[in-house]
Formats: sequence, C-alpha cells, structure tokens
Amino acid sequence: MAVIDGKIILTKNDCYKEYQKMTPAGIVVHSTGANNPYIKRYVQPDDGVIGKNIYNNDWNRSGLYVCVHAFIGYDKNDVVRCYQTLPFDICCWGVGSGWNGSYNFNPAYIQFEMCEDDLSDKSYCKKVYDKAVTFCVWLCRKYGISPDNIVSHKEAYDKGFGSGHVDPTNWWGKFGYTMDGFRAAVKSRLNGVNVKTKRRCRLYKAAYKDPVGDSVAYAKIKKNTVLKWLEDDMYGWSKVSYKNKTFYIINSNLNKKGLSGLVSYSFIKDTSAYLVKGNKLTKTTIKKGTTVQVICWIEAGKYKGYEYVKSGGKYYYLIRNS
Ligand SMILES: [Zn+2]
Repeated sequence: MAVIDGKIILTKNDCYKEYQKMTPAGIVVHSTGANNPYIKRYVQPDDGVIGKNIYNNDWNRSGLYVCVHAFIGYDKNDVVRCYQTLPFDICCWGVGSGWNGSYNFNPAYIQFEMCEDDLSDKSYCKKVYDKAVTFCVWLCRKYGISPDNIVSHKEAYDKGFGSGHVDPTNWWGKFGYTMDGFRAAVKSRLNGVNVKTKRRCRLYKAAYKDPVGDSVAYAKIKKNTVLKWLEDDMYGWSKVSYKNKTFYIINSNLNKKGLSGLVSYSFIKDTSAYLVKGNKLTKTTIKKGTTVQVICWIEAGKYKGYEYVKSGGKYYYLIRNS
C-alpha cells in the first residue's frame, strides 16, 4: 500500500510562489471543518483519480492565504487517499499564528488536512485516521521527526503557535480517537510495542475483514505469548505482529491497557439479516429488542459494508436497523 498515493503540487497558490525553504521540525494535523470528504474540493487539476472540481473553488489559485503539504480524503470513487500538495521542505500556510509564534515558519512544521464529512461515518473516520498514521510514520522516518512533535491544530493553539481552532478533535473525539492515541500509534509503528497474551487464544489472519468460513486461517497461541502490538481498530480488535507476520486478535486477550472493547447494541425494529453457519448464509430476521455484539465491519468482498455480529451463540451479517 502506498503511503502517498499521488502528487499534485498547488503551484498557483501564493504560498507555493513564495517558496520559503525550511527543515521540518514537526507535524500539524488538521481537519477541514467542512462537510466535503472529497480531495477534489481542495486539490486540482484532476489527475483522473481524484476527479474534477466543477466549482473552481479549489486551493490551486492565488489570493487564498492558506495552503498545506497534503490532503487525506476520498478520491472520485470513494477510496481514501493521501495526496501531496506542496514540497515537504517549504513552509506552508496552515496553522495561523498564536502568542508564541507560528508552526508555519518558526519552527516550521509539515501540515496536512483531513477532509471531514458530516462526522457521522465511523468507518470513513477510521480509514482517514489509519492513513494519517501511516503518513506520519513515513514522515517521521524520512525527516527524523519525533512523534512527540506531532500536534493537532488545537494543540498548536494551546501552545501559542497557532490560531484558535479545535481540529481535528471536533471529529476524532466523536469516535474515541485522541492525539495521545495517535502519537502512540505512530510510535508503536516506528518502534513496536511488546504485549503478552492473557490466556490461550487465537490469532486471525483476516479477522475483522472476513471472520467466518474456511478461508480464515488462524494460529492458536499460548498464554504469555509475546506479540508486537501495532494498532487498535476501535471495534475491540488489534493488529499485531507475530513471527514477522501480521494478525488480528481480540483486545481482551491482550495484557495492555486502554484498548477498545467489543461494541454491543439493541435493535429498534425488526431487521433482515443473514444467518452465518460455516460458509452458508441463510436469510433471516432479527427481532426488535435483540442485543447483538459487533465482531467487525466487513471491509472487503461481497458483504462490504455489513456488520458481522454475534447474538445468543449465533452469527449474522446485517446492516443495522435496515
Ligand atoms: Zn486547522
């Protein structure tokens, strides 16, 4: 998977024309504060992947006094991508300034925008968050930046190096993501964090993508097995590394604090679902009031977008309250 999916430098933006060289000292994480998840809203011209902005209100023009090094959001096919929009060694105009100065210039930080949607789609938020982690790991490696020097716009403001904004806490906070968690995720990807299993349990190869059927390969591991923890999927699972391979494991099996738990909810109306038994799916209805535990969101394949849930020892694929 590419870290940077494309490069469209905003050469018509006054910030690019100014071309003030710098050595990156940190990273500022922004979110746009507007309901438009598409990169094309801000970045043009269309490279055939991001799509065309027919409103001509993108940032590749003069007179804006705002510009950042990269954007993360949807391409025209709703695939989350990261696009570089300025060279990483020139100052951007992102964070504004506070009473101590500005992370635009002194010290100069690499800054990127995450395109907000209407803030209700956890799955989109998670994809953007994950992409931001991967991007920051890459930037930290390439420019020798410490993950401790990654801040949000809100934190830049709090430290006196930015204008009074709250991004991306206004968005991430809705789904339990924090800047401390973000820095920890970047650190763990840079360094790896060892965790131990609390009991005999299973490692899944594609657990939260396709958790049933014969296609699922897993290993049984013993209590006190040491794994390298990589990241929390916020649905009660973690990605871990074991013998240099990546697996998924249920968080409650890990001897690590602060991990997410499995999500449960009850139905407000009768809902159609597929009963899952081995590889066999049978149409059924789940009655109003039934409580289910979410095992995962299915992120690929025929049932992409469905939830995989458990209730009373049975397993289902469904779309919530459909
Ligand atoms: Zn901002």
